[in-house]
Amino acid sequence: QKTPASLILLFGATGDLAKRKLYPSLYNLFEKGLLSDRFAVVGVARRLKGNEDFRNWVKDSIMTFGERSDQLEEFISHFYYQSHDVSDSSSYTQLKQLVDRLDEQYRLEGNRIFYLAMSPEFFGTVAGHLKADGLTETNGFKRLVIEKPFGHDLQSAIELNNEIRKAFLEEEIYRIDHYLGKEMVQNIEVIRFANAIFEPLWNNRYISNIQVTSSEILGVEDRARYYDKNGALRDMVQNHMMQIVSLLAMEPPIRLTTDEIRSEKVKVLRALRAIKPEEVHQFFVRGQYDQGMINGKEVPAYRDELNVSPDSNTETFVAGKLLIDNFRWAGVPFYIRTGKRMRKKSTKIVVQFKDIPMNLYYKNGSHLNPNLLVINVQPEEGITLHLNVKKTGQIMETTPIKLNFSTNSIDGMNTPEAYEKLLYDCLRGDATNFTHWDEVALSWKFIDTISTVWEQEKGDFPNYQAGSTGPKCSDELLAKDGFCWWSDT
Ligand code: NAD
Repeated sequence: QKTPASLILLFGATGDLAKRKLYPSLYNLFEKGLLSDRFAVVGVARRLKGNEDFRNWVKDSIMTFGERSDQLEEFISHFYYQSHDVSDSSSYTQLKQLVDRLDEQYRLEGNRIFYLAMSPEFFGTVAGHLKADGLTETNGFKRLVIEKPFGHDLQSAIELNNEIRKAFLEEEIYRIDHYLGKEMVQNIEVIRFANAIFEPLWNNRYISNIQVTSSEILGVEDRARYYDKNGALRDMVQNHMMQIVSLLAMEPPIRLTTDEIRSEKVKVLRALRAIKPEEVHQFFVRGQYDQGMINGKEVPAYRDELNVSPDSNTETFVAGKLLIDNFRWAGVPFYIRTGKRMRKKSTKIVVQFKDIPMNLYYKNGSHLNPNLLVINVQPEEGITLHLNVKKTGQIMETTPIKLNFSTNSIDGMNTPEAYEKLLYDCLRGDATNFTHWDEVALSWKFIDTISTVWEQEKGDFPNYQAGSTGPKCSDELLAKDGFCWWSDT
């Protein structure tokens, strides 16, 4: 199904995100024939000179980061550029003229997407101007797409939300959480709700714990200025990790509509047990990387990175235990873990099932491995089910095996980029895989207690080596409940 005719007004058109993700993703939609022929993109930034310069920029982005480029010339002919400082009130009038002209030229029916791929400090200003200068006055649809971070805590998120709500309705706001565009994150729902064998077991009677890990090999790279003020808790847990937990824990929606799905996810966040300040250390631990070896190369400690203060108290690792107080999940811990400069790049979910009542095959200390359902989100995509079977031969002994499904090997090609799917959804007006304000607010409320406690105390940093699986306290968090991280499953 093709997207409707529309204009995309892209603020931050020369930024890293636009270059690495947005242009290649939009191009893929175009080449697959999913993008309406009636589309135009207006890039807004300060650096470039004009349309020609911008088109070369987009071309370069697709040649560098995209997979294909056969119809590039045709594609970039839809791109227009306006040099514009977003805090300069006078230039919005000019922008409106350009947008109105393109609307007519491409018969865009007044449909407009305003994509803010720039620092959140500008979101309020831009939204305000779009309304005041008449760009949001249109006969078609208008949608605002914004990137993370959505605020720094609950208070700043509320302020930001109030500002953009002056110009857009909640249903017109598309808050990107690119994890929600990932193939296997979208697959959580399907695995759960399209299979008879999982849903009956998907509760506290059969599941002992659930683990969500997102680890990176990369360090802070050139994002230190942003990262050092935020840390892993705000950068990863408040959004991506909480979103994955709500998809894993939500009740089946009555139908697959945006409102129904979001409402089930919100209920999970409402059932999340709030942590009291004095309990923070019991439920959450943090870490910061020290120097170490990665792929045979020495890498510096976080505190020695460019633009990081030598006594930085910012965490580059978080592990935590979440409890969801409802009938389905009472007593089942959801462990989450995320960190930079870890041993491997991996995002995965492990569902550990409870042990069976007795081991009939017990022999000299032998034990049965628990059944695990592993959902690999990235870089591998697929699911693995861990079972016990009979060891071949005369004796009755068990051995663990893995039933494996990998989308990479089945389709023979990479699944579409998260951004490609999210742009497509947004153009079609499907907000299911974007974050609703209620989710943002509830998750900040939960996170704020932890960050407040952590800010008041100096972390025992650095406490894990680059290239390791994180600090010892992370293993201890599970060990005290009698569990361990399934790192190599
Ligand atoms: P960036 O710093 O690379 O780009 C910023 C863009 O904004 C540039 O095009 C710049 O010209 C423009 N800009 C800055 N000030 C301006 C002004 N006053 N007037 C007009 N234009 C101005 O940033 P980025 O990495 O592309 O990130 C953009 C947004 O996406 C941020 O909210 C970021 O947190 C978010 N994000 C980025 C990534 C990523 O992979 N880069 C991932 C997730 C979220």
